[in-house]
Amino acid sequence: MDKLTLKDVVLKNLNVLMRVDFNVPLDDSLNITDDTRIRASIPTINYILERKPKKIILMSHLGRPEGKRALKYSLRPVAKRLEDILGQKVKFLDDCIGEKIRREIENASEKIILLENLRFYPEEEENDSAFSRQLACLGDIFVNDAFGAAHRAHASTEGITHYLKSVAGLLLEKEIQYLGETLQNPVKPFMVILGGAKVSDKIGVINNLLPKCDIILIGGGMAYTFLYALNKKIGNSKLERDKLSIAKDILKKGEQLKKDLVLPIDHLVVDKIEKGISSQIVEEIPEGKIAVDIGPKTVEEFKNRLKNAKTIIWNGPLGVFEIDDFAKGTYEVASFIADLPATTIIGGGDTVSAVKKFKLEEKMTHISTGGGASLEFMEGKILPGIKALTDK
Ligand code: AMP
Repeated sequence: MDKLTLKDVVLKNLNVLMRVDFNVPLDDSLNITDDTRIRASIPTINYILERKPKKIILMSHLGRPEGKRALKYSLRPVAKRLEDILGQKVKFLDDCIGEKIRREIENASEKIILLENLRFYPEEEENDSAFSRQLACLGDIFVNDAFGAAHRAHASTEGITHYLKSVAGLLLEKEIQYLGETLQNPVKPFMVILGGAKVSDKIGVINNLLPKCDIILIGGGMAYTFLYALNKKIGNSKLERDKLSIAKDILKKGEQLKKDLVLPIDHLVVDKIEKGISSQIVEEIPEGKIAVDIGPKTVEEFKNRLKNAKTIIWNGPLGVFEIDDFAKGTYEVASFIADLPATTIIGGGDTVSAVKKFKLEEKMTHISTGGGASLEFMEGKILPGIKALTDK
């Protein structure tokens, strides 16, 4: 790792300003419906606390308030939940910059402080330098632990690094280790599982990983544009017509590089994507039918390919897993790789939701906390929030 991390710096008696990802879902009564992201920050917070800083000042965005103050995007409920999880007082401040805030931080008796939503200021997403400097003056050192926001060059992820020594938190370090270093230099055989709704979201990932991997297994909605490109019948399954030529190019490139792109050989099909509807397993998709999951032969084929893998990365569910009847393929492959003696990396977003739904998260080596950020990392892009950290 060529960037400074928390382990490289002394924190004693410093005001540690940390960007976290507390962008949690709230219901209409402003109750937090999933606190995974808050819990994910606890090891980093505890690590810092053990090193006796003066204060830990946490900052985050929540939702898309579009540069305006709005109660429904306040981080106040997050401060309360953080307090409950930590068993320690957390002071919430109703703004994120300014002299008043600076004084309140100085005078607070609490060790941990949470600032109000950064995105109440349009300057945050504009990466405004004056705003970045105002944030920076609240701390002596900057820690970025918000992987989910690392693909955006915002004031609190990039701009601020011009004014403070900037280091990766434990969560960010782990993401860099698995999505960066492991994927750069994977232990082989290295296999990639891709699924999800659209080919268009995964083109960059395929182009980056095809030369590095041994096999790519493709399921989910995106498989049907590839099958159509191979002149297979796909009924009314998901098709991105405008991506057909790209799909053909990818198939050709796979052939040239002698990499197997494994596509579904059977499918669970329905008339309508709807809970409780009757379904059937087919090898050739009849006119009018929609494929919503990979079939049992495909599951066996995928398992057979995956059994010798040493490194596996997975992004995108293999069927419409949100409906239990269509989740079998995703479940079977997830539980199979969970028991393999391989490094298993789950690349963010819906795949993480699926793995959590099956209660398999403890059995995977790494579950990425970022959706868009992990896709961009898998595309081989350098994320601005990581690039901006201080070099070792
Ligand atoms: P993504 O965000 O691209 O990973 O896509 C995830 C979404 O893909 C999930 O909401 C799934 O329901 C959906 N999906 C998976 N398989 C299919 C399929 N065969 N047809 C349509 N949508 C699918």
